[in-house]
Amino acid sequence: MINSYGIGLDVHKLKEGGDLILGGIIISKNYSLEGDSDADVLTHAIIDSLLGAANLGDMGHFFNDSTELIYSSLQMLKKTDNIIKQNGWIINNIDSTIICEKFKIFNYSNMMKSKISETLKLNTNKINIKGKSTDGLGFIGKNEGISALAICSIYKK
Ligand SMILES: [Zn+2]
Repeated sequence: MINSYGIGLDVHKLKEGGDLILGGIIISKNYSLEGDSDADVLTHAIIDSLLGAANLGDMGHFFNDSTELIYSSLQMLKKTDNIIKQNGWIINNIDSTIICEKFKIFNYSNMMKSKISETLKLNTNKINIKGKSTDGLGFIGKNEGISALAICSIYKK
């Protein structure tokens, strides 16, 4: 069996108005993130970790067509899962951290896990989502942005 690991990082700018989507869940209807697709930082970080583990480059490489960027991030995650499966890989687990001052991630983490679990057909006990603040420091502390980190392990028989 071959094991592989990948990391992913994403940052998007937080602004007033619109819907804030993290892990496919609407967290707020008063704020949103600016960026490609629905700017779901968590899902984008997970996509990059999966592509990284499979040695397939990054999200920009697979989703560079403007028509694809209008897809929801969960749809892009589904596509990523298909791509890595075509390469013979199976996901073992995903761990992640959302770095955010304004919203308490803990309140939404189970809902996010369910969404990602449904999308990847991966048991919720193989997906972990943590929340972290920066003690008011930096652009995240000033609520100017939200960041996410993800790591995954995948294997091939
Ligand atoms: Zn992104």
